[in-house]
Amino acid sequence: MTRREFLTISGVSVLTVSSSNVRAGENRGAAFLSTQSGGAAAKTGDNQNPWYAVMRRCGQINFNERDPVGMDVNAWADYWVSLKVDAVLINGGGIVAFYPTQVPYHHRSQFLGSRDLFGEMSAALERRNLRVVARMDCNYAYEEALNAHPEWFERNRDGSPRKHNESTWLFKTCMFSPYFTEQMPAIYREINGRYPVAAFFTNGWPSTGALSVCYCENCKKVYREKVGGVPPEETDAANALYRKYYEVFMDRVLEVWRLWDSIAKEKRLDSVYVGNLGGGIRTVKNVKKLGEVAGWFNADHQGRAGDTVIWDCAQQGRVAQSVMKQRTITNVTGSYSNSRPTWRHTAKAPAETTMWMAQTTASGMVPWFHWLGGSPEDTRWREVGRSFFNWLAANEAHFRNKRSIADVAVLYPQSTIAFYKSGSGPGSWRGAERAQTSDYLQGLYYALLEGRFIFDLIHQEDLSPELLTKYRALLISNAAYLSDKQCEQIREYATSGGSVLATFETSRYNEWGDKRNDLALSDLFGASITGESIGPLGNSYMRIEQRHPIVSGFEGTNLLPGPENRLPIRAKETTPLALSVVPYYPAFPPEMVFPRTPRTNEPAAIFKQKGTSRIAYFPGDIDRTFWRSGNTDLSQLVQNAVRWVMGDARPAVSVSGDGVVEMFAWETEPGYALHILNYTNPNMTRGFLRRFYAIGPQKVEFETAATRKIHNVRALRAGRDLAFKQTDRTVRFAVPTVVDYEVLALT
Ligand SMILES: [Zn+2]
Repeated sequence: MTRREFLTISGVSVLTVSSSNVRAGENRGAAFLSTQSGGAAAKTGDNQNPWYAVMRRCGQINFNERDPVGMDVNAWADYWVSLKVDAVLINGGGIVAFYPTQVPYHHRSQFLGSRDLFGEMSAALERRNLRVVARMDCNYAYEEALNAHPEWFERNRDGSPRKHNESTWLFKTCMFSPYFTEQMPAIYREINGRYPVAAFFTNGWPSTGALSVCYCENCKKVYREKVGGVPPEETDAANALYRKYYEVFMDRVLEVWRLWDSIAKEKRLDSVYVGNLGGGIRTVKNVKKLGEVAGWFNADHQGRAGDTVIWDCAQQGRVAQSVMKQRTITNVTGSYSNSRPTWRHTAKAPAETTMWMAQTTASGMVPWFHWLGGSPEDTRWREVGRSFFNWLAANEAHFRNKRSIADVAVLYPQSTIAFYKSGSGPGSWRGAERAQTSDYLQGLYYALLEGRFIFDLIHQEDLSPELLTKYRALLISNAAYLSDKQCEQIREYATSGGSVLATFETSRYNEWGDKRNDLALSDLFGASITGESIGPLGNSYMRIEQRHPIVSGFEGTNLLPGPENRLPIRAKETTPLALSVVPYYPAFPPEMVFPRTPRTNEPAAIFKQKGTSRIAYFPGDIDRTFWRSGNTDLSQLVQNAVRWVMGDARPAVSVSGDGVVEMFAWETEPGYALHILNYTNPNMTRGFLRRFYAIGPQKVEFETAATRKIHNVRALRAGRDLAFKQTDRTVRFAVPTVVDYEVLALT
């Protein structure tokens, strides 16, 4: 096939299409055509959308090199059929070819023998009308390739190639080398030419994590010609070389992504290349830019370890939604024990796996169920996936989301999360006190869950008035690094009547971390800074100077716990002081514990109101301090502040009842869906979930669109219809119980 190819529908229409400028994201409005290369072609999708845009479930069996010895492809294909998946990812090649490749230095599995495992499995899947996605790995190759093509590989400073840390006979390939622009394309074309593949996926690349620095000849040339010097090995946005390298690096990622996508489309216009992203809320690479080239965003966010919170997967969904909107996002669930340490060949607890998949679908992603090794000795995971996927399939229409109906926006502060160094610059945090840059957002997030708010994440590079207008409030959790333009957009949002809650160093620096003389949003917040950040210090307080809705519920105290860090500020306007700073005093020994300065005029918060626009600014890191301490007053304060900035009108959806839950509300193709995830569990903040603890009745008030008459409310997990009342736009009903997850479908 050349760049111009013939596409047919049902063997009748014939079109000639140039794929040279085709990007998946641009194709969505165009007539979409499927070739008849295989029985799967006509199974899903229509002429408006590529197949993966309507995919609801997928699975992955990750081959190991020895799998050709005894793998039963038909049994595996039958398993995937039993999950009602639309597509299955199987290993094509890259590190190891699972088919008799002719591409030089493409290492055939030493156990391949006369088999063509990829071909057999593709055929078995195709016979069952399932689409095949070729799972590739572009990151490592064998010594044979290293000897023949030394220029393909990453190098250490001393010129030595980089070995895999466990499989030391493999060597790391370099993204800036022809391995990515010649060798991988040759492999993709070979697979595309021989097998009925509908997409390509690369394991482990590009990821959303930190940039890598390599010293191969290709990279040295890039540093000389494009960067202007060798960049630092650690993330350091204060360094001009790092900033330049970040741009050059992102450009290369996007260039390779587009190239590979165009190669996928050489055969079928509705084929696609899928990169490997993820990282939850902790991203360094620009996910907004990645979302612009990605026709399909895969989050390789397979599970949690250690004291990672249970909502880590739902957060991943929100980050991906912030850049993909309603386009396809998948999230991988590892059904094996991907904890620390990891066990690849035994299953994780079923409750944990199920909750991960539930968060995937609640947040609007498509679940991708993953097992490693073709001859498992542990098969307990199989029913876990089958049970959840079959429930999904039976209720599929209700997972086809049209839009989120959240009325609160939370800014996703990617620059701050990627680059932030607090206070007066590098090293200002003391040792173990050094901030996790995501702790601020994590604190706000937990308070939003406790307050049962329904919200969306909005990427800081996506603050257009068209997008923000649907939200009643924009919540900004220490977005210290914001560009002038982003600050202007936030200001405009407030001017047009929107409300803003912001904390700590929000807008103190530009997007790369250059410090401004004052907060760029000083006028909006009504606050000017009077000195550098103070802290981290415990045992400081906020004094309630007068009653305000934001301090309701604190009637028994004049003092609230203070933030560990704060910017000293003065109010720019004569607004009544609601909360003042009581500075730190010693916490030990008890004899010394008394306030040296019990009263100050320094605001611990500023609340402003102009028309419908309400502004709440906390110069302290109350969100991060809440996250670190778990202090309930700080959570309550954040929740009160969110309620106040949202104004007097009722929220779009409210759910009252016991339990810690996370909720999503979507307008769906058939109506609406309210998703309730039950996190009420002793293993909420340390995995794995052992079992679920059902929560009791949840009272729901759900606002529909003005014209929408609701005829039925059904609890999809419980499988029963619920009694409800509709008064004008408000639908009221009670959910009797939520065990793990409930989806209330309003139609
Ligand atoms: Zn290199």
